[in-house]
Amino acid sequence: MKILIATPEAIPYVKTGGLADVTGVLCREYRKMGKDAHLILPLYKPIKEANFNLKDLGVRISVPVGSRKIKGKIFTDKDLNFFIECDEFFNRDELYGTSEGDYIDNAARFVFFSRGILETCKLLQFKPDIIHCNDWQTGLVPIYLKTLYINDPFFKDTATLLTIHNIGYQGLFPSSELPVTNLGWDLFTPEGIEFYGKLNFLKAGLISAELLNTVSHTYSREILTKEYGFGLEGVLKKRIDDLYGIINGIDYQEWNPLEDRFIPANYNQNDLSGKNKCKLNLIKSLFENSKKESLRLPLIGVIGRLSEQKGIDLLLNSIGELMRFRVKLIILGKGDEIFQRSLIEMSKKYKEQMSITIGFNEQLAHKIYAGVDFFLMPSKYEPCGLGQLIALRYGSIPIARKTGGLIDTIEDYDPLSQNGTGFLFDDYTPSSMLCALKRAFCIFTDRGKMEKVIMNGMGKDFSWKRSAEKYIELYERALEKKKSAH
Ligand code: ADP
Repeated sequence: MKILIATPEAIPYVKTGGLADVTGVLCREYRKMGKDAHLILPLYKPIKEANFNLKDLGVRISVPVGSRKIKGKIFTDKDLNFFIECDEFFNRDELYGTSEGDYIDNAARFVFFSRGILETCKLLQFKPDIIHCNDWQTGLVPIYLKTLYINDPFFKDTATLLTIHNIGYQGLFPSSELPVTNLGWDLFTPEGIEFYGKLNFLKAGLISAELLNTVSHTYSREILTKEYGFGLEGVLKKRIDDLYGIINGIDYQEWNPLEDRFIPANYNQNDLSGKNKCKLNLIKSLFENSKKESLRLPLIGVIGRLSEQKGIDLLLNSIGELMRFRVKLIILGKGDEIFQRSLIEMSKKYKEQMSITIGFNEQLAHKIYAGVDFFLMPSKYEPCGLGQLIALRYGSIPIARKTGGLIDTIEDYDPLSQNGTGFLFDDYTPSSMLCALKRAFCIFTDRGKMEKVIMNGMGKDFSWKRSAEKYIELYERALEKKKSAH
């Protein structure tokens, strides 16, 4: 089976969120399984500037974007992944926009990328059985195959799967951008790609891909509701039979406390002493005048995009109360200006108990996952969430809101049976969150119970193998569907 994973980001090349982990690791997993799998992504400036030893394949594509024809060059690397170079669109510091907002030509950029993927396949004579699309940036690929390329024999047997990593991001553009896509106005209807007067790239994929999936079973059901569907619940309900949920895994090579090169001491389930060293080191590096006694206080970590989705407003509203407990809170994140500013303010007020680092810092993330006792994820919604999976692997107990993938991956602790891997809360309110935190603090003082929960979590397996196999099954189903439509 020939697999092409079309994605706007992937590790190790570029990453702004979990999508990059998923696509990068999934591709690697397929290779281990002996599949012919490749990633294709835009050649952004950060990829060019890093040392990936890219090789120009000498292939030149010319992609219609509205009335223009935009040229692109195709590069590859040692892993035989493909990169589409177009400096006009991708030679920028960020992937999608700056803190001031999205790039204004995002519609044209991802029209070029989506159609460029198909043109690249043709010129390389690489005929994929499946194009696995990811999020709105590649949402046009399936609709192009069903419209502009419908009679192209090259793609006669190519099926598509679209993975929704986060339905909150849809690629919405004014209707005036429709000509940029080269799709006809006949498609600009509520049954088509129109969405409340706008053009919706994700919807284009949702109505045209052979199959759809999201990154957890619970989220695949949640997005059928008004609360979580962001207006696309009706579209998805029509495709309910084609909608699946496959939980993400994490890269067990990268996230392994026994071999992690970023952390000051390595450890595993059999000997947690290294974890204590990590905690002490973390506290010392982030808090002035910290004493060894702080080891005896609960240390809570938060890592993620500072956005409403991640529950940062809830966190901000609870910090005052939380600081009454003798705890320390460490936050690493980057995102909305207003949240960044408020968290910095708070950390100044509670400087002995709270530390905030603004930015994307892989190394510090590893240190936090290893050094904290508890990992907090108060998300408003969470398609899958990777933070809790990493935390479990590092023996840091997740405390999270009962939503999406957090429900599917964390078992709420039961004090009677001592089963469970974390602490879950229901309502999106400070009192509900604080209640879960208090339950967690209760076991913190009882080393035996604490270690039991840590072991329960560290014993779980969230490696990619099983999920990769499920994706292959889904590809096969998508292929069958395509065949039966002939
Ligand atoms: P998202 O919704 O952002 O994709 P996920 O939980 O699925 O959230 O994945 C986020 C990934 O990005 C995790 O691997 C997390 O450790 C990492 N991450 C998020 N923010 C930062 C940051 N500021 N520095 C380092 N890593 C980060």
